[in-house]
Amino acid sequence: MKDTYKKNLIKTIKKILGEENILYSEDAIYAYSTDSTNIINPDEKADIIAFPTTKEQVSEIMKYAYKNSIAVVARAAGTSVCGACLPKKGGIILDFSRMNKIIEINKDNLICKVEPGVVIEDLKKAVEKLDLFYPPDPSNLKVSMIGGSIGLSSGGPHTFKYGSTKDYIIDLEIVTSDGRIMHTGSSCSKDVTGYNMTQLFVGSEGTLGIVTQATIRLIPKPEAKRIMLAYFDNLENTSTTVNDIISNLITPSVIDLMDKNTLKTIESFYPSGLLTDKEAALLIEIDGFKENLDKQYEQIIEICKKNNSAYIQTAKTKEEEDKIWISRRSSFGATAKLAPNVVTEDVVVPRENIVKLVKGIWEICNKYELKTCIMGHIGDGNIHPNIALDLRNEKEYNNFIKAKAELFELALSLNGRLSGEHGIGCEKSYFIEKALDKENLNYMKQIKELFDPKNILNPGKIF
Ligand SMILES: Cc1cc2nc3c(=O)[nH]c(=O)nc-3n(C[C@H](O)[C@H](O)[C@H](O)COP(=O)(O)OP(=O)(O)OC[C@H]3O[C@@H](n4cnc5c(N)ncnc54)[C@H](O)[C@@H]3O)c2cc1C
Repeated sequence: MKDTYKKNLIKTIKKILGEENILYSEDAIYAYSTDSTNIINPDEKADIIAFPTTKEQVSEIMKYAYKNSIAVVARAAGTSVCGACLPKKGGIILDFSRMNKIIEINKDNLICKVEPGVVIEDLKKAVEKLDLFYPPDPSNLKVSMIGGSIGLSSGGPHTFKYGSTKDYIIDLEIVTSDGRIMHTGSSCSKDVTGYNMTQLFVGSEGTLGIVTQATIRLIPKPEAKRIMLAYFDNLENTSTTVNDIISNLITPSVIDLMDKNTLKTIESFYPSGLLTDKEAALLIEIDGFKENLDKQYEQIIEICKKNNSAYIQTAKTKEEEDKIWISRRSSFGATAKLAPNVVTEDVVVPRENIVKLVKGIWEICNKYELKTCIMGHIGDGNIHPNIALDLRNEKEYNNFIKAKAELFELALSLNGRLSGEHGIGCEKSYFIEKALDKENLNYMKQIKELFDPKNILNPGKIF
């Protein structure tokens, strides 16, 4: 029975895409049963990997999958850290890496149209050549793709000033679970013609429909930027510094926090002159017109000093700026060198509770003897504990599971949420009932059923 199913599946997808656009060897299937979440379950794997290049092909595949109740997982670069790409019920993985065209950049309308496999950094570079700006930039922007960042509504360091992916997507071309093709919005920068269907799909983790094209809002590129690192001996001072900067009517384009362990770990593996004896550092970037920046920069330095900053590292050249950014973007990679595995969490709280959150995480990780490097977007209240461990070690694994549950409880007790930008996937779904209003959750489940009555779109995620 299983053999006939698989033979027919391969035959059909081969007919739609051609032999050169499918994979079904054991090796390929194994590679695609993982994402960046560090979970490998040999019993949970797909039956075929398909590389569509047109929306019509996606539609044909979905029609076949719907008719035969076959699960379909959309996949971009597979860097999800919440298990959002893991195949839980076999079936088809739709890999969008070959649908990677920037279709149009329209400077007059301040929009662009792209296929889901466009790498985020490629899009940013292409629009910047025209003095335009696409702000969302997950730290792994050199590999992660537009389709995946729509699936998770990715954020990154610039969210405090500019918002996340959801703030830039104005229209999606969607292939529905039964293979129909629809548009959710328009190319207009303002549009309240009916419900905001576009926003429903952004962050839906491929559980409601498959994105085959996105229309993205752009903004003018800021003329210049300045960056600094301010070190503190006391965590409370990082938070009061952020509040004072905002009270002085300055909106930094980035305001990120790195704790002592993060500074030490980055410096051990990617030496770049970071101070390793301070409790925490704030990476602060401002952008805008050149003539305004010097004054704001000086004001921020004064505010940091007033809040007892132990040392302020300014960047005077492009090389010095790049050095700070490279070290910041290395935090995950550096932590990964501490142990065979690294798990990154993503809780978010109202900003006023950030110090309680960070101290609580330190306590939980100490209690369970977990090596943790904390960094995050302090302006948004969004913190990423990067936990280095060996998941094969039973004690460490059990400790991690307990710590993770306590971390979620802590965030909820501080009026927070389970995820600020990484999503829920299958890794946090067990906690979703605690995190959401009951009626809200009921409506979410009904929406899922409406768009995907056979539960074939990325089953086992979110709920
Ligand atoms: C080192 C590292 C650093 C990171 N830094 C950040 C960060 O700073 N900020 C941040 O927000 N996140 C970050 N992430 C998390 C994550 O990688 C990003 O959110 C990224 O944008 C996901 O892109 P991807 O192309 O890998 O998507 P994938 O992991 O392939 O997919 C993500 C989700 O989107 C769905 N999807 C993919 N394509 C489609 C499609 N065509 N239609 C419908 N659904 C689709 C998938 O089914 C899945 O649910 C980081 C991850 C790593 C490993």
